[in-house]
Amino acid sequence: MAKLRFIREIPQNVQGLIPLVDTGIVPVSHHCAVFPGFCDVHVHFREPGFSYKETIASGCAAAARGGYTAVCTMPNLNPVPDSPERLAVQEALIAAQACIHVYPYGAITVGEQGETLAELEALAPRVVAFSDDGHGVQRDEMMRAAMLEAKRLSKLIVAHCEDNRLLRGGYIHDGVYARAHNHRGICSESEWGQIRRDLELVRETGCGYHVCHISTKESVALIRAAKAEGLDVSCETGPHYLVLDENDLQEDGRFKMNPPLRSREDREALLAGVLDGTIDCIATDHAPHSAAEKAKGLAGSAFGIVGLETAFPVLYTRLVRPGLLSLDRLMELLVYHPRKRFSIPLGNDYSIWDLDAEYSVDPAEFLSLGRATPFAGWRVFGKCLATVCGGKLVYQAEGQRHKAPPRPVCPEA
Ligand SMILES: [Zn+2]
Repeated sequence: MAKLRFIREIPQNVQGLIPLVDTGIVPVSHHCAVFPGFCDVHVHFREPGFSYKETIASGCAAAARGGYTAVCTMPNLNPVPDSPERLAVQEALIAAQACIHVYPYGAITVGEQGETLAELEALAPRVVAFSDDGHGVQRDEMMRAAMLEAKRLSKLIVAHCEDNRLLRGGYIHDGVYARAHNHRGICSESEWGQIRRDLELVRETGCGYHVCHISTKESVALIRAAKAEGLDVSCETGPHYLVLDENDLQEDGRFKMNPPLRSREDREALLAGVLDGTIDCIATDHAPHSAAEKAKGLAGSAFGIVGLETAFPVLYTRLVRPGLLSLDRLMELLVYHPRKRFSIPLGNDYSIWDLDAEYSVDPAEFLSLGRATPFAGWRVFGKCLATVCGGKLVYQAEGQRHKAPPRPVCPEA
C-alpha cells in the first residue's frame, strides 16, 4: 500500500480513498497525495463557435485529468456572451456536456470589440466575472465605464492587458531570440503599459480588478506596488511563464502564445512574485487549436497552447521537487486563492496523485483536442490517478481496476 498524504482540509475519512490508491498499479514505495479540486480561472473551451478546437466535453475531460474540478471559460466565442440571450447558447452546452464545474465569463464589450459596453447588469447573476480576454480594452473611457458598472454590480473586471498601438505585428518576445532569428517582437510595455493605465482607473473607481497571464517583470512590480497601496487587485500567471523563457524557444508553433515567453529576468521576477504573494493564482490559459493552426512555425501559427493536463506535473517537477516552492503554496495558487477571489466554492472535489510516478509528457495521450504544448517530451513526476467532482468520479487513470466511484469522503461545503 503506497503512502497517502492529505493536504489541509482534504477529507479525513481515508477509507473511501484506499481502494483507489491500492489498485496494484502504484508501487508500494510511492507517495500519493489527495489534493482539493484545482480551480483554473482562465481557460478557453471554444464552444460555442469553434468545436473543432475543443468542446465543453473534451475541455472538461482534460481538466479532470489534470486534477481540476472548476474552470472559468473566456468569452472569445461565437456568439460572444455579451447578452443574456447569447450567454444562454453557452449555458446550454455546459449543462449538456460538463462533468466538472464550468463558470462562464461575460464579455466587457459587445462582441469584444471595445466599442459598446456589453449588458453587464443582465449578465451579472450568471457569470463569474467580466473579461474581453484575447483583446485589451483599448479606450480609457470604455474601461472606466466598465469598471464603474462592474463595481456597482460587485463583479471583478478581469483584464487581458495589451496595447494594440505597441504590437507592430510582433508574435514572440522582443528580445534576444527575436533579434537572433529575425522575428518580429512584442515589447513588454504592450502589457505593463495597459496594466499601469488600468491601475489608475482602479484607484479612481474602486473596482475589483484581476490581471490575466502576467508575463513581465514590470507587471509584477506594478501589481506589487498596487497591493501595497491597498488597491483591490489580484493577478495570475501561467505555468509556462514560470519554467520557460525566450531561451527555450524553438521554431515551432507549440512555443507560441500571447503574451509570449519573455526574458530570463522576467521569469525570475514572476517566480519572486509567486513567492512573495504578489501573484495570487496560477492559471493555464488553456488555449487549444487544431494541428493545422499550430503547424505554421512561430510566425504563422495561432497564439495559444494547452495546459490543463500538464500544469501540476510541470510545476511539481520544476518548482516543488527542487525546493523552489512548497506544496502548500502551490495549493494556494491552484486552489485556495482562485476560489476565494472568484467566490467559487470547494465541494466534495479532490484528486488523487501518485507523486513518484515519472513519465514523459505525450500529447497523443491528451484528452484535450489541442495537442500543442512546449512540454512535449518532458520528463515529469506526478500522475493523476483519479478526480472526484461533487462526489462523482470524473476521471480515472487507465489501468485502475476499480470501477465503482470512491465513496464521498468529505461533507459538502
Ligand atoms: Zn488573454
